[in-house]
Amino acid sequence: MQPVVTYLKKNQSRFVDELCEYVRFPSVSAQTNHRADLKACADWLLKHCRQIGLEARLCPTAGNPVVMARTPRGRSNGKPRPHFLVYGHYDVQPPEPFELWKTPPFEPQIRGRSLFARGSTDNKGQHFAHLKAVEAYLKSDVELPCDITFLVEGEEEVGSKNLGPFLKTHRVELDCDAIVISDTGMPAANCPGLTYALRGIAAFEITLSGPTRDLHSGIFGGNVDNPAMALSQLLAQLRDENGRVAVPGFYDEVQPLSPYERRQMKRFPLKEKDYRKFLGVPKLFGERGFTPVEQRSARPTLEINGLTSGYQGEGTKTIIPAWASVKITCRLVPNQRPERIAKLIRAHLRKLCPPTVRLEIEGGHGAKPYLVSPTGRQTQAALRALQSAFGTQPVLMREGGSIPIVNEFKKTLHADTLLLGLSLPDDNAHSPNEKFNLDCFAKGQLMSAYLWRELSES
Ligand SMILES: [Zn+2]
Repeated sequence: MQPVVTYLKKNQSRFVDELCEYVRFPSVSAQTNHRADLKACADWLLKHCRQIGLEARLCPTAGNPVVMARTPRGRSNGKPRPHFLVYGHYDVQPPEPFELWKTPPFEPQIRGRSLFARGSTDNKGQHFAHLKAVEAYLKSDVELPCDITFLVEGEEEVGSKNLGPFLKTHRVELDCDAIVISDTGMPAANCPGLTYALRGIAAFEITLSGPTRDLHSGIFGGNVDNPAMALSQLLAQLRDENGRVAVPGFYDEVQPLSPYERRQMKRFPLKEKDYRKFLGVPKLFGERGFTPVEQRSARPTLEINGLTSGYQGEGTKTIIPAWASVKITCRLVPNQRPERIAKLIRAHLRKLCPPTVRLEIEGGHGAKPYLVSPTGRQTQAALRALQSAFGTQPVLMREGGSIPIVNEFKKTLHADTLLLGLSLPDDNAHSPNEKFNLDCFAKGQLMSAYLWRELSES
C-alpha cells in the first residue's frame, strides 16, 4: 500500500495538469453544437485510460458514447476477485451566463486551493480521482485486490436516457459486487461523508375548474364557487399544524430512523442559526419531532412548486377565474412507493374536492427512494477508507434529492451503490464559477486507493 500512497503524493501536480486538460473540453450535453466536443472529450478519456494501463473502449449509444475501461483481470487464490464498478460522467452543464464567470468556464484556472472550470467538480474531477488511484496501483506494481471497471457516460446532465438500455446490454460484463459513485457532496473539506440514502419523488399537476370562462365578479359573484379559493382551501388541508402531510396512509411505509442513524445525523455539521441566515427565512419550519437535518433528508414532504390562477397583470381585474392549478411534488423516503403515494393523494383529493368545481389530476410519475444499509459491510468498509484518507471520522448522510441512475443500477445489476461525494457545498456545481477543491481531489484519490482494499477484505 505504501508505494501507492507515495506514487499519489509524488505525482499530484501532474494529476492536476491532466485534470486541467480534461476540463478544457466544452462537453455540454444539453447543446447539440457541442456534439463533436463530447466525442473529442470521450476520445481523450479513452486514450488517457489506456495510458494508465486500463483496457478501454468507446461504446456507442443512441446518444453520446460511453467510455468503458477495466483493470487487467486477476485472480486471488485461483478464484475470480471481487469486481467493482466506478460510475462517472464526462458531460457537463451549460456554462451560461458567461458574464458571471470570473475566468472563462473552459479555461481552467487555479486560485488558492481550487481549480475553477465547468465540470471540475461535476463530475470530471471526482471520477478522475478514482482513475488516479487505480493508476497508482498499476504503475507502482502493487497488486489490486479486486477488478475494477470504469463506466463514464456522456449524458448524465440530460437525464441518462441511454444508460438504462446500455446496462441491460452489458449486464454480464458489468456484473459486480458494488458500484462506487463520487458525484455527491461532503459537508466540509475537513468533514468527509458517505451518502447512504436518497429521497424519491412523485409529481402531480392538479387543476380545479369552475365556469367555462372568467366571470364578472360583480354580476355573478355569490352564485358560483371560486376555483382559486376552492384550491387554496383544498391545499390547506394537505398539511397539519405539526408540519405533517395530512394524507391518510402517507406515512404507512416510512421506515423509521434507527437510533444509530439519528446519532449519525446529529454529527452532521449544521448550525441552525447560520443555516437560517443562508436560507434567508425568519424561522425554520419542518415536521415536528425531527431535527432540520432529518427533516430535509430522512422525512417525506409535500410541496407546492407552482400555483396559478386568475389575473396576474397590472391593476385590478374583477373576475371569478375559470380555473386554478397547482404543481405539487412529494419527496419520498424509504420504503415509500411513488405509485402508492400517487394513489393515496388522488383518492384524498377526490374526497376533499367540493362538488362546485371539477377536479383533474395529472401525473403521479416519480422515482423510488434509495437506501443502502448504513451498518452493512460495504458501507462500513467505505467509511474506513474515508477515515484513513481524511484522517477524521466521516459522517453518514442521507441526501434530500434523487439520483435516478442509482435505482437503475440496483434494478439491472442488483448491486448497491456507495455514494462517496467529494464536492463541497460552495463548489458551485451547475452554477457560474464551478470549482473543485484540490485537497478533496488528493484525498479523494487516497480514499479510492484505500477503498479497494477495504471493500475487497470486507
Ligand atoms: Zn450535475
